[in-house]
Amino acid sequence: MRPSLHVVSVSGGKDSLATLKLAINRVGKKSVRAIFCDTGNEHTLVHQHLAYLERTLDIQIDRLVANFDEQIANKRRFIASDKRTRREYDIRPVFNAEGNPVPKRDGHGNIVTRQVKRGAVTVLEPVQKTVKIGGGRRVRWTNKAKRRALSVLYPTGNPFLDLCLWKGRFPSRKAQFCTEELKRNMAVAYQIDLIDAGYRVISWQGIRRDESPNRRDAKKAERLGPGLYAFRPLVDWTARDVFNYCRNEALEPNPLYLQGCSRVGCMPCINAGKDELNQIAARWPEHLEEKSRWERLVSQAAKRGFSTFFNKELHEDKGQDRRVHEANRIEAVIQWARTSRGGRQFDMLVDLVEPTACVSSYGLCA
Ligand code: SF4
Repeated sequence: MRPSLHVVSVSGGKDSLATLKLAINRVGKKSVRAIFCDTGNEHTLVHQHLAYLERTLDIQIDRLVANFDEQIANKRRFIASDKRTRREYDIRPVFNAEGNPVPKRDGHGNIVTRQVKRGAVTVLEPVQKTVKIGGGRRVRWTNKAKRRALSVLYPTGNPFLDLCLWKGRFPSRKAQFCTEELKRNMAVAYQIDLIDAGYRVISWQGIRRDESPNRRDAKKAERLGPGLYAFRPLVDWTARDVFNYCRNEALEPNPLYLQGCSRVGCMPCINAGKDELNQIAARWPEHLEEKSRWERLVSQAAKRGFSTFFNKELHEDKGQDRRVHEANRIEAVIQWARTSRGGRQFDMLVDLVEPTACVSSYGLCA
């Protein structure tokens, strides 16, 4: 039988902290490998907290940092030699006079279908017909866009920024490639290396069912693949259980929880809401200023010449024009975060956030 190694992905948050401590208590620290996927977009306090954990638990946390140098070099080559001639079009769905979707048909008149998953069942459903709008856009990079992108398209050493420079855009809720490229791929590669080295790997994951609807069916244990298993010891815990466990084990939570953060991760996350943005703007404006600098760089690397860190759909037009992007620039989003009632009315109470007061969302100072 292969020897087992227990891998815990530490995020700097409370759940992974409790999971790490549970793993050490259960199997001993010699069999535990702690990893941290460094996105390059974390608060300094996260790094200080990791150093605190290493000292307190007497363990080493392996930092995994994604590198996109090769992808950026390939993109430079691609842009410089781009000679494509085809055009790309916006499309709109077609409805009949009764307002029902018109199905798409193939060259023989048959309705085109696709497989769709509904819960546990896979069904076939018709694909809706679409038509092109307008004259379309050139697919090829213009010479002006080439010059602009090539002037900034160099690795910076920051994985989050390099990823966005390579992609020519920031991630969004619908295209959340940051999680995949900066965290999941790195953690999976680390575990595959251990399996290849002859170990059986148990991946301890600090997931709770009450965290979100898509985690409500999380299994406590499952086999993920040959030699790889998942174990989720916190599935039935609440956030309060987690804090109580850490307190009983004399482990300090990340100080960010005491300063108004309800979650610890990127600073800010592309999905941050109004409250979190207000806290960041009041306490750590330098992080938003940094993202503003990133916006300028990634915009230069983008084919259209603009890209924004947030995609809040603050503008009524859903198109891809420059006005939508202007409305999503960091500065505009901070202003939006200071409003209430759907973004129209300025909220005077926001100015009452006292930057030094404890505003923990979990009432940790109670
Ligand atoms: S989803 Fe948010 S927290 Fe996760 S990697 Fe992307 S920006 Fe960071």
